[in-house]
Amino acid sequence: MKKVLITGAAGFLGSHLSDRFIKEGFFVIGMDNYITGDSKNIKHLLNHPNFMFIEHDVTEFIKIEGELDYILHFASPASPIDYLKIPIQTLKVGSLGTHNLLGLAKAKNARILIASTSEVYGDPLVHPQTEDYYGNVNTIGPRGVYDEAKRFQESITMAYHRFHGLETRIVRIFNTYGPRMRLNDGRVIPAFMGQALRGEDLTVFGNGAQTRSFCYVDDQVEGIYNLLFSDYSYPVNIGNPHEITIKDFAEEIIKLTGTNQKIIYKELPTDDPLQRQPDITLAKKLLNWTPKVDRAEGMEKTFSYFKQLSAEELTKSEH
Ligand code: NAD
Repeated sequence: MKKVLITGAAGFLGSHLSDRFIKEGFFVIGMDNYITGDSKNIKHLLNHPNFMFIEHDVTEFIKIEGELDYILHFASPASPIDYLKIPIQTLKVGSLGTHNLLGLAKAKNARILIASTSEVYGDPLVHPQTEDYYGNVNTIGPRGVYDEAKRFQESITMAYHRFHGLETRIVRIFNTYGPRMRLNDGRVIPAFMGQALRGEDLTVFGNGAQTRSFCYVDDQVEGIYNLLFSDYSYPVNIGNPHEITIKDFAEEIIKLTGTNQKIIYKELPTDDPLQRQPDITLAKKLLNWTPKVDRAEGMEKTFSYFKQLSAEELTKSEH
């Protein structure tokens, strides 16, 4: 049985990846320090014979007994609310954490896939973003801690590939959503759904003309799975190119949740990108992958997940 180490396993994407790899017949070692994750996300796996959990901070030395075939490095705060609160840990997990995991991959002769992000493109001057665009990041802005950690992560991964011949994969993930996101993680989908469920007005930052494109988690996991088993070492965008303005999206949520809240407008945060849309030509060609779940279906599934959260969790998510 092939063994895969998934860091960030108690988080949103890491827990879905753990489910997928177990379903495909792998033995999964999940690792997490719970800094932004939740043990609830992997509760269903804890007694599974093909799952083992290690509570550990990946910025500290990592020891794994026996053989290891694959590593998926997904540990990192991912939402602005988290990485603005814990900026140093964010820089450390992208740099020291990635270095530790590359060292582990080298020692075990394992293939490693690292989770990068569309944020490496910053506030893009090219639209939609192709993998050969170098990006427009403000290194010293508050969001720089995340963006630059991820850019460093890509550089050190390519250095291990070129210098040590390590088998590496880099996925540039664009906004992904679905069940197990945290209601209070500050990202627009849980924020809108939480507000709708609490009967509050929906907050739009700026005039709402900024665009986003949202990828359903099952599509994202499928793309990552295909990339791991491809033979391509350069970054690949995985996301859903279907773009929408935040204002239109807020209106969609109001319709979906069957509420009659209003939209209220607040000031746009610093360095918030105005446009974000993946060019997925490469993923389509290389991985024979394309997103399948449309926004209406994905939002419906996500809203059902949030709806069954207890009233207590809903109140906790106010901020
Ligand atoms: P998440 O916060 O739900 O999960 C991240 C997990 O990593 C958490 O469980 C957290 O406790 C763990 N973690 C953080 N620092 C750690 C450390 N030092 N040691 C061990 N565990 C640690 O976030 P997510 O949305 O699941 O994101 C997962 C990965 O995907 C991240 O690397 C993120 O940058 C990347 N990504 C996600 C998105 C998205 O839309 N969700 C977009 C782009 C990139």
